[in-house]
Amino acid sequence: MRLILFGPPGVGKGTQAKLLSAKLNIPHISTGDMLRDAVAEGTEIGKQAKAVLDAGQLVSDSIMIGIIRDVIKSENCKNGFILDGFPRTIPQAEELSLLLNRLGMEIDFVINMEIEENEIIKRLGKRLSCSKCGNIFNIDNLPYSTPCPACGGLMYQRDDDKPETVRKRLYVYSQSTAPVKVYYQKLGLLKTINAQNDLQQVHQEILMAINHK
Ligand code: AMP
Repeated sequence: MRLILFGPPGVGKGTQAKLLSAKLNIPHISTGDMLRDAVAEGTEIGKQAKAVLDAGQLVSDSIMIGIIRDVIKSENCKNGFILDGFPRTIPQAEELSLLLNRLGMEIDFVINMEIEENEIIKRLGKRLSCSKCGNIFNIDNLPYSTPCPACGGLMYQRDDDKPETVRKRLYVYSQSTAPVKVYYQKLGLLKTINAQNDLQQVHQEILMAINHK
């Protein structure tokens, strides 16, 4: 199964990708997590990407395509994958199609997760991320300075989840990323899900959309 989780920041792509990854036993590929790891490790890509991430802008297509090419060709992805945060532009979507074509693979479904904008701002304001395993929690369920329930790692608020950066990310989404939805709609791959519901309900809806019993 090869899936793309598509939707604005804060819609719950990361949370749903983790649930699906455990259920379907295929890797969760989050380009955002990969970039944050590169920044933390101080790699060349991390150094180039840091300011871009902090500003809520998009890392260049050439860097992103290079990253995703290596991942998809790896042994890890040979039985499928769940893409979270990629593709985010039309050139990325086109490059992905070419790459998969060359490898004799294809995307099975693109899950289009929809939510109201005021709910996004509310959710991201309350989001805590684990610095070690990337797990995501809500501050209402996990008070400040509590370690990650999954791995004991330090929980933190992402710099780009601050309200002024969230607004910028939503603008970038509407300009550069939303057109990708039309690209996949034309290919007949799009399945639209109401992501406003609670996370187990959304998970069940996604499983139904991909015909998974
Ligand atoms: P995310 O964790 O998916 O919200 O991504 C965090 C940030 O990483 C984004 O705001 C972008 O700056 C960068 N990023 C992640 N994926 C991509 C991508 N496919 N293209 C460009 N930038 C990306």
